[in-house]
Amino acid sequence: MKYDVAVVGGGPAGLSAAQAAAKAGCKVVLFEREDSIAQYVRTSGVTWISDMRELGIPQEYYNPIRNYSFISPHNEVTLTSERADCCVLDVRRAYQYLGTIAAAAGAEIRVRSNVINIELNPSAGERYIRIKSLSEEKDVQSTIVIDASGFRAEIGRKLGFLSAWSRYGAGAEYECYCDDLDTETWYLMVGSMYSAAGYAWVFPVNKNRIRIGVGVGRPDTVEDPIKKLNHLIKNRLRPLDRIKNIQTLEFHYGLIPNQGLVKSFVDDGIMLVGDSAGFSNPLLLEGIRFAIRFGRLAGEVAATSIPFNGSREHLMKYETTCKRILSSKVSSALKVQSRWLKLSDNEWDQELDIISDLRMDEFLDFIRADFSRSKMLRLGLSHPKLMVRSLFRLVT
Ligand SMILES: Cc1cc2nc3c(=O)[nH]c(=O)nc-3n(C[C@H](O)[C@H](O)[C@H](O)COP(=O)(O)OP(=O)(O)OC[C@H]3O[C@@H](n4cnc5c(N)ncnc54)[C@H](O)[C@@H]3O)c2cc1C
Repeated sequence: MKYDVAVVGGGPAGLSAAQAAAKAGCKVVLFEREDSIAQYVRTSGVTWISDMRELGIPQEYYNPIRNYSFISPHNEVTLTSERADCCVLDVRRAYQYLGTIAAAAGAEIRVRSNVINIELNPSAGERYIRIKSLSEEKDVQSTIVIDASGFRAEIGRKLGFLSAWSRYGAGAEYECYCDDLDTETWYLMVGSMYSAAGYAWVFPVNKNRIRIGVGVGRPDTVEDPIKKLNHLIKNRLRPLDRIKNIQTLEFHYGLIPNQGLVKSFVDDGIMLVGDSAGFSNPLLLEGIRFAIRFGRLAGEVAATSIPFNGSREHLMKYETTCKRILSSKVSSALKVQSRWLKLSDNEWDQELDIISDLRMDEFLDFIRADFSRSKMLRLGLSHPKLMVRSLFRLVT
């Protein structure tokens, strides 16, 4: 069987690419190695309501957030907004929804199908991927192969687009039951008691469900996020001391690249998207909205390049657009991240004061890594608060 587009990985990037390519009339197949879409959750699901609306993700799949609390060893600040801009996804249901719309658009979706190899025959313009499923091992031919396998970057690595990630985040999280939660407030906790190089979080999913997690940066620390998380819960460190009856229901663990965009993520018949291409906002290590948005773009561009046998020249439109939108944001955010990684506990206490001096729109631009150069330059030169100026100067 020959396909126009074969997608490796059924996360938000792969499902979105499959949907867009199928919608544009391509014959599409998607392979997911696990037993079901979102069998294992590897993300804490914080994202932004404006993006979800734009991408058509129904409101029933997310919980709105309008209070942003930050806790450091000796400080705590909360920024409060009238309007909810942020949200926490019900990850499994949201990804299943992406699977449903991909299937409805005509994509074939195969779970329990592990892609174990790729072979190219450049002279004939043929690409084969080897699939290991429950019952067999077989080769599938496709004009274009989209690598959406996340951190594993299965195809990208095999073809030499990238080697092992040198910088990445590791996160451990419990999804918990609790009594009567404030559903509108997130907590980010910083400082060595929470994470030696990273942060801990408390994200509400609904009134009785919460995600509590710890993320660490590699190679900045060898600290085990699972041990740190267990310590946090056992000792009810702030703000867990205010949450009643925490009972762990589900454990999540995941890895995410943290070194910016992959240098090149397109070649003849090959595209990388989502985490496999390094698409995430380094400040929060959030990548879901980019995975969906650029997954769709990858599917659309793939479809238009089928008559040209998926040539690199035609696929480059995808790479150029992604770089134009993402490159400068991600590199500015990496500068802030590198400042944050060096902060001592006392410096974190002061950094929270700087964050509390931001206006809500400034805070949102900042944390979303929406750094418009002219705006940041203006704020870096003339923000009314002296301490804040240094933060904005960093990203210009
Ligand atoms: C601890 C943690 C917390 C995070 N929190 C947030 C957050 O709050 N908000 C946010 O926006 N982002 C967050 N992220 C990042 C976010 O999860 C990713 O950016 C996003 O999932 C990227 O989507 P993706 O589709 O590229 O990859 P993934 O979601 O990783 O999906 C890849 C899929 O490919 C499958 N696969 C892999 N190899 C193969 C193969 N060989 N054959 C077939 N299938 C394969 C996998 O099973 C998986 O289903 C977090 C990440 C981590 C690790």
